[in-house]
Amino acid sequence: MSSTSSTFPTASTRTTYLSQRVASLKPSGIRRFFDIAATMKDVISLGIGEPDFDTPPSVIEAGIQALRSGQTHYTSNAGILELRQALAAHLERLYGVSYDPQTEIIITVGGSEALYLAATALLDPGDEVIIPTPCFVSYQAQVYLAGGVPIEIPCRMEDNFDVNPQAIEAAITPRTKAILIGFPNNPTGAVATRERLLEIARLAEKHDLIVISDEIYDRLVYAGHQHVCFPSLPGMKGRSLLLGGFSKDYAMTGWRIGYACGPQHLMQGLLRVHQYTVMSAPTMSQIAALTALYDRDEAVQMMVEEYDRRRRLIVSELNRMGLPTFEPKGAFYAFPKVSVTGLDDETFAQRLLQEEHVAVVPGSAFGAGGEGFVRCSYATAYEKIEEALRRIERFLKRL
Ligand code: PMP
Repeated sequence: MSSTSSTFPTASTRTTYLSQRVASLKPSGIRRFFDIAATMKDVISLGIGEPDFDTPPSVIEAGIQALRSGQTHYTSNAGILELRQALAAHLERLYGVSYDPQTEIIITVGGSEALYLAATALLDPGDEVIIPTPCFVSYQAQVYLAGGVPIEIPCRMEDNFDVNPQAIEAAITPRTKAILIGFPNNPTGAVATRERLLEIARLAEKHDLIVISDEIYDRLVYAGHQHVCFPSLPGMKGRSLLLGGFSKDYAMTGWRIGYACGPQHLMQGLLRVHQYTVMSAPTMSQIAALTALYDRDEAVQMMVEEYDRRRRLIVSELNRMGLPTFEPKGAFYAFPKVSVTGLDDETFAQRLLQEEHVAVVPGSAFGAGGEGFVRCSYATAYEKIEEALRRIERFLKRL
């Protein structure tokens, strides 16, 4: 376990007009690699964290129609009521959890804003948030920017990268306010089991904590596995925030639509922050998202099947080459253990990029639990993955 004070050191002297918090925030380890890759020819990127599919055509059409018909104004702060109603029905149908569209749902600018609202509305300076890692790079940063203290708890490959309730309980202090989890997980592809999540629920009750559950990959889960929606667990709707969005499930990253759901007394706080920062999420994108919810089930299915085909290729090949690789149960990332080569993850990724022009992301960018691994996104064409694998094999043979 390690607190993140080392990741976000405090500036000691005034060398900038930026706030200390911002000045001491390191840029995301993902972007740095993209910047290097952008200067090279012939790079195959397994670094990208977004679907390679285009948004389904009927969803695009709905957005265009919205603009043409003059829907170019603000919506209500919480979002178009019809979208909130459709989302409530959708969550009820999939997970049996019911949110009141009037008071318990906010449509946000991507899952990213939902995360920002949760951190800003919940945290006082010094409040600790326990974060199982590896995790999406924004979790620690958002907590830190809101004045909180991220406390990282590594998940282990030998444990299927599942949440570790014992380690979490050991990290709880009187300053702990929340546990922030993200499953299906970026970058490991892990899907937390119901048993473990029930233990997290028990801890939340015992220690009076809020659970923030980022479920943005909820529909990208492979056959034989099941996503458990945290607030649907007994007693948890009242002490959790559900964060989600349209970016991944519906290939809508550029539309910037996400959502936050939770009990009214918390959502009032999130809504205040949202009102004063964003006003309302983009109107045409909300209308497009409504169409995605109404008709795009089969598009999601088609994308999951294609991700699955790529997943089977990349996981079996990486394992065959001698890089132990956990089989992802959801999302679209493989997370091979590269420390077996004797290189650390940064060096491995740097040399692979320089020598073979394949971009992957060093696992340590995702927190302490990611050290020794790299993230390979398979949200890219099958043929490109095949070529990237050939290059990785050549690289490994040379080592
Ligand atoms: N949560 C996770 C786990 C993610 O991987 C991402 C995007 N990479 C987001 C949230 C934010 O997505 P967006 O803002 O595009 O909805």
